[in-house]
Amino acid sequence: MTAKLDFWVFGDHRNYYQDRLTLQVLAKTRQLADLHQGLVTVVLLGHQVDEIAREYISHGAHRVLLVDRPDMSTYLLETFTQVISGLVQEYQPDYFLLGASDFGLELAPRLAKRLNVGLCADCIEFEMDTTKDRLVAISPAFGGTSLARIVWNERRPMMATIRPGIFSEIPHNDQAKGEVVQINQDDGQITERVKILSSVRKIHLSQGLEAAEVVVAGGRGLKDSNGFQLARELAQLLGGEIGATKPAVDAHWTTHDHLIGQTGKTIRPRLLINCGISGAIQYTAAIKRAETIVALNRDRHAPIFQQADLGVVADAGQFLPLFLTEIKKLLFQKITDAYRASLNKEGVKTDVSFGQRVKKLRQDRKLTPDQLAAQTGQTPEFIAQVEDDAITPPVSFLLQLSHALEIDPSRFLSDQEKMEIGAKRQEGFAKRTQSYSYQTLTPGAADKHLRGFLVSIEPKEKHKMVEYRHPGEEFIYVMHGELEVTLGTRVHQLKVGESIHFDSETKHKLRNISDKRCELMVILYTP
Ligand SMILES: Cc1cc2nc3c(=O)[nH]c(=O)nc-3n(C[C@H](O)[C@H](O)[C@H](O)COP(=O)(O)OP(=O)(O)OC[C@H]3O[C@@H](n4cnc5c(N)ncnc54)[C@H](O)[C@@H]3O)c2cc1C
Repeated sequence: MTAKLDFWVFGDHRNYYQDRLTLQVLAKTRQLADLHQGLVTVVLLGHQVDEIAREYISHGAHRVLLVDRPDMSTYLLETFTQVISGLVQEYQPDYFLLGASDFGLELAPRLAKRLNVGLCADCIEFEMDTTKDRLVAISPAFGGTSLARIVWNERRPMMATIRPGIFSEIPHNDQAKGEVVQINQDDGQITERVKILSSVRKIHLSQGLEAAEVVVAGGRGLKDSNGFQLARELAQLLGGEIGATKPAVDAHWTTHDHLIGQTGKTIRPRLLINCGISGAIQYTAAIKRAETIVALNRDRHAPIFQQADLGVVADAGQFLPLFLTEIKKLLFQKITDAYRASLNKEGVKTDVSFGQRVKKLRQDRKLTPDQLAAQTGQTPEFIAQVEDDAITPPVSFLLQLSHALEIDPSRFLSDQEKMEIGAKRQEGFAKRTQSYSYQTLTPGAADKHLRGFLVSIEPKEKHKMVEYRHPGEEFIYVMHGELEVTLGTRVHQLKVGESIHFDSETKHKLRNISDKRCELMVILYTP
């Protein structure tokens, strides 16, 4: 083998900050290059991607060949194939490694065909065959039951795709030195049959399975999509990602990008919880790097228990709901502790502030600030201030949070806090009813969850409409007159004897549209 081998890596930089695959490929390539005093070059095609080029150098590249053109701002298979194969023919690298991303899987075989070279797909390791002084690629074969050792013929470059999640990236080093070579290309010779009319970047609220610290995986033992939803909820509560076995993906309980295993992703979380999974080799091959493995299975002889650090022999349908309730309680307890600490009440000391807890809760549930604002009936600005600990919200915000968490808050709130919330309910109702006359049907229940009223609304010319929203549900039955109920953007008209039931989180307003007095029975449920 020659002393100075030239190793190339394809710079797949879509969603750079979420998709670390190129950095994993780069790390392995740099390790191989260091063994042979070789050079690592990243081929980077894009537009205004100088920052990404510097990032590749900080993560191990000696050199970046940069083709910067406006038409490269999105990936185009034919264009990329033509440009990269041209560069390979010009520079003649010895090895060319690509991450097995969706795009890498499309691009690599096209390049290999065009260059007439060999391609080892889905590699998980490389070894040196010292007897013949050549590199050997290792890739799972025969359903993952064997590992194939593959060598290339003499043609260069020797190409391989690398499975995501196998190698660890080299930590970012600001001091790393490298060269960025700008390639000026004339686009005259390129033929591209696909024209991109528009593209939208998918917003990633999660870091992806391969990078997740916590993964909850569900299998056929969860029975149906409702059972699988329990695993998904557990993942959310723990701030993790949901993973799945093949039967769960085949049954469409989740999408293919959550598949773990030989034909899916390899993971290495700190905590992996397997629910209703038997532990077939095609699955377990991809979880070997998990630090702590928990298995939940009703069959104590299931092979997954051989991999597990902790096993629970139980029916998932019975165990998971109880487990979820306990976790929610724990979570909410921490939130109320932090809330009291922020008020300096009861002297509870917490290491994490209330705002930080709210932010983590939101992020764990993969909600944007806007979504949490909608769920709690607040504005995004209010949520931002709470998360920054710039304000301590009223105690009723705890109630709205518990609503978003679907947890009964009663056991966590002190009597004083319950009174404050009760007062808020009354205040809210007073605001709502100042334009109406009303008579309570549930005396003494002002701070209770369920309350009933007889409401009278004057004819339209006299009545000033007020729009409101509040957590809970509302039921309205028209006893006299004619009522218009506006729910968000939808308008409903109700006559005598008609009723409507709606989520009172939706902005709503009521109007008498008849000439007579309108009388209604209103039942309010407030969580
Ligand atoms: C070429 C090839 C590639 C493959 N690639 C993959 C891959 O990438 N990923 C993958 O996952 N599979 C893959 N497979 C399929 C793999 O062989 C297994 O069939 C699959 O992993 C089994 O999934 P499972 O554990 O969900 O289902 P099962 O093997 O059916 O296991 C279900 C488990 O749930 C338990 N259970 C049942 N009811 C309950 C309950 N109420 N409570 C608790 N536990 C319960 C059962 O005891 C059982 O252990 C591949 C197969 C082939 C041939």
